[in-house]
Amino acid sequence: MQSLKELKADQLFGEHNCNCGAKHQTKTKIVLSENALVKLPEIISQILPMGNILYVTAEDLEKKSKETERILFKTHILNIHKLPANVRPSILDATKILENAEECKLVVGMGSGKVCDVAKYLGFIKNVPVVLIISAPSSLNYLTDVSKFYNSGLVKYYVSKVPDVLIADLSLMLNCPKNKIAGGFGKVMGCLVSLIDYKAAAVLQDTYLCENILELIKDSVEKVFDVREKLSGVSLYSLEILTESVLKISLVKQLCGKNIYGAQNDAADILELVTKEKRQSGELVFLIFLKILKLYGMFLNSELTPLLMPPDYVKRVRMLQDLRCNLIENLNTVQYVKQDRELNIHKLNEYKNELIKEVSLAQSKGEASLAGFKRIYSDKGYSIQNYLTSSDFKTAVFLSPVIAKGFTLLSFMTELGYIEKIF
Ligand SMILES: [Zn+2]
Repeated sequence: MQSLKELKADQLFGEHNCNCGAKHQTKTKIVLSENALVKLPEIISQILPMGNILYVTAEDLEKKSKETERILFKTHILNIHKLPANVRPSILDATKILENAEECKLVVGMGSGKVCDVAKYLGFIKNVPVVLIISAPSSLNYLTDVSKFYNSGLVKYYVSKVPDVLIADLSLMLNCPKNKIAGGFGKVMGCLVSLIDYKAAAVLQDTYLCENILELIKDSVEKVFDVREKLSGVSLYSLEILTESVLKISLVKQLCGKNIYGAQNDAADILELVTKEKRQSGELVFLIFLKILKLYGMFLNSELTPLLMPPDYVKRVRMLQDLRCNLIENLNTVQYVKQDRELNIHKLNEYKNELIKEVSLAQSKGEASLAGFKRIYSDKGYSIQNYLTSSDFKTAVFLSPVIAKGFTLLSFMTELGYIEKIF
């Protein structure tokens, strides 16, 4: 059997018997090619031969969405909803769309992250199939079963459904806005932090992620890293590499039930809301991940004790006692409970050294991709150094553990009081 990382995004459909012992499964059919849109009529006729379609798109996609609209209109009755440009949809905005859509037996979303999140959510509420036609390789959330909405100033994630079909038409995406390319690039590179967060979680929380899936993520990041210089003058080749990687990383949630979240995504969600200037979250992810890596480096290279303290207080006390650490009085409210599992300090040390190595590797990759990122934006004259002030960063670092969706080294450092200490 081919390993997961060797399969293309459109080959990952169905079941995969993995040598980790698990059966990894994906439910979305992916069509990724030039002119993939020509397959739309056939795809639609298989899912819903006739009837009403709820078609969700965005106002700023006028030209691109017209072509899809024209194809669908030939055979179906369309209930069209265009999300306003530059508005972050709330759950109420999404629910309103349903008001006159009882007849619709299929949701088609044509757009990028925002539109696709709405379409997946509507499909979930109505319990009907969802077809996505993506307009840019800019979101790692296209193939997950969660949707992001904004409610009273807060980012919230809601259960939605994975799309039944996703069409990535390279010809259609070729002229997508540069900030969308930068966004996808930033999010993929940001996974360098996710990978470290996973590794840390494996040690400190006894969690597990299949090696083959980790390889798939690493390989996808690597491929995008290799084309970083070509992404500024987007060619079909570099666009295809970026799209493949974005979709494969997005499939991780389906493959193993775990999201590829890391501290960079949590922090970017916060920054999106606190910074006044309007920026794509991909840019924020990019700008913040380099800084987070620096923090991780500082933390891991600091005294040994904090790293060896697992989040579980009982384990922590036990470890501190084993280390004869004088910090023990800070934890005197916690009762020592004898545990069966023997501590393996040697092993933890090994992990720590491994983590330090990975962080420094990720840091050098991050620095190198900064050049590629700047090039994508050069025509707009942006100076990305001015994008993220240290107070923006501080706010994000302090607040992101509050919304953290999974274990991150950053939330662990916050819990230990380490973040307080260094700021
Ligand atoms: Zn596996």
